[in-house]
Amino acid sequence: MDLGKQMRFPRINLHNHTIFSDGDFTVEEVVRSARDSGLTHVAITDHFETEKLPSPLRKENFDRYLDCIRSAGDSVGNGMKVLAGVEIDANPERCDLYELPFDMLNRLDLVLFEFVDDPLNGGVPLNELRSLVKELRVPFGFCHWDMDRIYRDREPEWLADKLAEIGAFVEVPTSQHYARQGRFLYEHSERFYRAFDGKVKVSIGTDMHHSLDQVGNIDRGLRFLRDNRLCDQLLFNEK
Ligand SMILES: [Zn+2]
Repeated sequence: MDLGKQMRFPRINLHNHTIFSDGDFTVEEVVRSARDSGLTHVAITDHFETEKLPSPLRKENFDRYLDCIRSAGDSVGNGMKVLAGVEIDANPERCDLYELPFDMLNRLDLVLFEFVDDPLNGGVPLNELRSLVKELRVPFGFCHWDMDRIYRDREPEWLADKLAEIGAFVEVPTSQHYARQGRFLYEHSERFYRAFDGKVKVSIGTDMHHSLDQVGNIDRGLRFLRDNRLCDQLLFNEK
């Protein structure tokens, strides 16, 4: 089922890993799989310079990484957009958030941050993140973000206003890994997404590492956004 076309909204998956960090597949394999599953936009977002992993994407491989994504985009040939991003660990013990290489990051199409403001994962507070990314000129957002847990005592409108101010988007993470008590994390956080209406941009990401059939796994996320009238706020929705 091609829910995006049916709904006239972009079918995006803006969170995928490759052999440039801890994924099992090449950029070309992910891009081909995205094309075959009818996506309109796919982003490669490997883990960047974090001690969380033995071999993240390193600065010295950045040019090769970007070339590889751009040439995969040039050769895909069906109008699908292939976007370049990275995922940054917001834990300052594992990632040098105080010396982010903006000359590199600003050549990307988007930047994901994981664990922002998340005490369980040592992520920097929202306000601090905001000052750390002042020089970032490309869209950035927060992936697999457990808002329901992190902001349990906050009003959804408070968070929506804060994010609108910072200019961050929020992902809808569709991987089975991001679930609790039989429900997806984004379902637990529905009250927050609802408050994003007219304020905060959203994306869909599968956080694909090990299974190519996950590249196209976005329909449930798209339906969730449609039900919350957020499809107009999808990132890269060019209409
Ligand atoms: Zn990821």
